[in-house]
Amino acid sequence: MTDIEQTAYEHAFARYVGASHGFAFWKARVALYAILRGLGIGEGDEVILPGYTCVMDVNPIVYLGARPVYVDIDPVTYNLDPALIEATLTARTKLVIAQHTYGYPCDMDAILAIAEAHDVPVIEDCCLTLGSRYKNKPVGSFGVASYYSFQWNKPYTSGLGGMATTRDPELAARILAVRDEHAVAPGRVEVAVLACQLAAYRTLVYPRTTALAQTIFRWLTKRGAAVGSSSTAEYAPNMPDDFLKRMSALQASVGLRQLGRLDHYAAHRRSMRQTYDALLDAIDWPRPRVPDHLDCVMVRYPVRVADKTRALADAARHFVELGSWFECPLHPIETPLEDYGYRIGMCPEAERASREVVNLPLHPRANVAVARRTVDFISRIGPARAR
Ligand SMILES: *Cc1c(COP(=O)(O)O)cnc(C)c1O
Repeated sequence: MTDIEQTAYEHAFARYVGASHGFAFWKARVALYAILRGLGIGEGDEVILPGYTCVMDVNPIVYLGARPVYVDIDPVTYNLDPALIEATLTARTKLVIAQHTYGYPCDMDAILAIAEAHDVPVIEDCCLTLGSRYKNKPVGSFGVASYYSFQWNKPYTSGLGGMATTRDPELAARILAVRDEHAVAPGRVEVAVLACQLAAYRTLVYPRTTALAQTIFRWLTKRGAAVGSSSTAEYAPNMPDDFLKRMSALQASVGLRQLGRLDHYAAHRRSMRQTYDALLDAIDWPRPRVPDHLDCVMVRYPVRVADKTRALADAARHFVELGSWFECPLHPIETPLEDYGYRIGMCPEAERASREVVNLPLHPRANVAVARRTVDFISRIGPARAR
């Protein structure tokens, strides 16, 4: 039964993003791992990625014995600064991961030009975007492969879930072989817990309770009562035994349904983004302009505030939903950065963004009233000092 549901989902998803093949996994980080293995990344290889990411993106690289090489970000789009890539390339560089942060597309022309000149493949981290376009071409269609997440905070959710896509039949065959030969099925209990969470999520989470539900969810997850998106074992560079896991039939059927609503969600996100733009302009909040050739379906709306610590503490008290990724160059704050080869000072823009940026909700349950309340709240905190 898994297979039919899963295959239907994989085909529909691949078609939606303009790929020829899609491979479903338990989480996006597992999809990334399968892509890396499919590309033959291994011991001693170097992989370039932004120093403004999630440790879950770095883990699959180190699990394979490769070395993450961090490149600083552009302060406007929070994406890889292409001007800094060249200096980090070595004879061991085997891959560049272009992460489209918050939904802003990376500068793909510049990234591909550098990578192609050095014969290094590029893959795209599309966990925070579905539907954004760069120069009128959808993100996820530039690199040799892409991966997507369907975790709670992503463009749409099946609770947990990930997909790897590619247009290269040979790479597709290798990713499939990795899954067929090594991936395990999720356990009955964890799928049952996920089903409960999805049901609770649907009943609990509507605009007025979103922040509250989020708080309850985090609390439950910390106490092990829910299938969290990450366990503490994943803040260390050793692969857990059951890491390489397939997608359950439950996730595939929820995901397939959600995919059908994606255009509707994307329209909502676009309109919410315009609402925030207008509300922020009305209070003269400094708002950097992204280039016109970036058509963005954002997953969250980033703003730089004067006092992030206070903003987050006050927001929790007033049930205002502020997001806080990324809290450090390799989110979350618990990550032992040195164990992942990150030294403070490596990516100054990313470190500054980690200190200043909070993100505002654009999800299907956020509406104009939520946007007003949220902007009103951050207006009392004030913007970060100008550079
Ligand atoms: C959420 C996220 C991931 C991981 O997704 P999972 O499905 O939780 O593994 C990876 N990269 C980025 C940029 C993300 O936002």
